[in-house]
Amino acid sequence: MTDCLFCRIVARESPADIEYEDDAVLGFADIYPKAPVHVLIVPKQHVTSIQTMTPADVDAIGRCLLAARTLGERKGFGERGYRVVVNCGPEGGQVVAHVHFHFLAGRRGSG
Ligand code: AMP
Ligand code: ZN
Repeated sequence: MTDCLFCRIVARESPADIEYEDDAVLGFADIYPKAPVHVLIVPKQHVTSIQTMTPADVDAIGRCLLAARTLGERKGFGERGYRVVVNCGPEGGQVVAHVHFHFLAGRRGSG
């Protein structure tokens, strides 16, 4: 078993409320939501952070942003808008070492 929390969620070894899934990406509800809608979008393939990503990770990272677009449209925020935030490294506020995009929506300046 991996010691990466988000890899365990991807593998369904840890529980999560799944909000989005495709072949490359998983989206699940943040357990401590900072906006009315707060979904974490992660690549299924483990990438530690933006700071360690390589050209081989570009597709997985890009697919996360495409998933954010789809999620936004499905939840009715396509026109209203939303925030997509990625924290990187200790001073950037990254706590979980598996790259993730915070999808925040539902009020002005969400998050
Ligand atoms: P970051 O600070 O950018 O690394 O964000 C980590 C996020 O993961 C935080 O917003 C946490 O609330 C969230 N989080 C931590 N553990 C879990 C979990 N088991 N399921 C869902 N979200 C989690
Ligand atoms: Zn991982």
